[in-house]
Amino acid sequence: YYNSNTIIYLDGQFEKAVNSSTDLYGQSLHYGYAAFEGIRAYKTHNGNRIFKAAAHFDRLERSCQLANIPFPWDKQELIAATYKLLQLNKLKDAYIRPLVFCHPNMKLNEPSGVSILICAWEWDAYSGNKLLKLTVSDYERPNPKSIPMEAKLSGNYVNSILATTAANIKGYDEALLLDMHGFVAEASGANIFLEKDGKLFTPSLGNILPGITRATVKELCTVLDIECIEKKLTIEDLKNADSAFLCGTATEIAGIASIDDIVYRPLWRESLGYTIQRAYKNLVLEKVNYEVII
Ligand code: PMP
Repeated sequence: YYNSNTIIYLDGQFEKAVNSSTDLYGQSLHYGYAAFEGIRAYKTHNGNRIFKAAAHFDRLERSCQLANIPFPWDKQELIAATYKLLQLNKLKDAYIRPLVFCHPNMKLNEPSGVSILICAWEWDAYSGNKLLKLTVSDYERPNPKSIPMEAKLSGNYVNSILATTAANIKGYDEALLLDMHGFVAEASGANIFLEKDGKLFTPSLGNILPGITRATVKELCTVLDIECIEKKLTIEDLKNADSAFLCGTATEIAGIASIDDIVYRPLWRESLGYTIQRAYKNLVLEKVNYEVII
């Protein structure tokens, strides 16, 4: 992720990653009390472009608000700093990771102060057309009455790491998690869509991260005249679906081959997911201008 030349952005300063440090007594390090984002930049014919930068920094602020973490920064300045960071590191297709973390405080009360780190690394676009093998995890997504699941908080990702590790040990690519009522929630780091009878379905908001890619898929559905329905989805719905895909900033649009013993039979290239995958690619690479509508 970094080498001796890598530059990071920390509280208004650009500095070498190897010369930066954090306090070992920080509340974030000890309790996972921090908020972060995962953003992508693409090399397009219009230059290097950060996809939906404003939406990501808005969600970062919202995550902090939901967790009572202060957010004393100007989001436009953060976006400008992120572009400068890409330039300083000569990054083109990149993954960008802003992290708001809390200063030393061993107590379980409000933070003594906050910092913002932004780092970035080269990350090739598109995992390609590899279809994913999923398993329904024994781990559930946490109850939003215990922790705000609509916030992208570091501590929430302990659940994601446990589920992914267990899935990988069993030979699967990804874990699919249910919510506390047994409805389909999301994968450990991506949202899910199902196709049934020419329509798309995705779990409604409440117990999942409001994915920015999920929102983009919905916008693409409007442009492409595909009906997209948000509702509670069951394991039965997974079984009855014609095809399915995951979506997320890192995942982009990735087709699902199977979920445990459910195997999706129609060819991926004939699915709505494939149509969305191509449209998404054109959108992030600015090959088409869907922005008039989006
Ligand atoms: N759910 C979870 C748990 C995630 O970590 C992610 C990745 N941020 C997503 C969904 C997809 O969100 P986005 O499209 O904003 O990347």
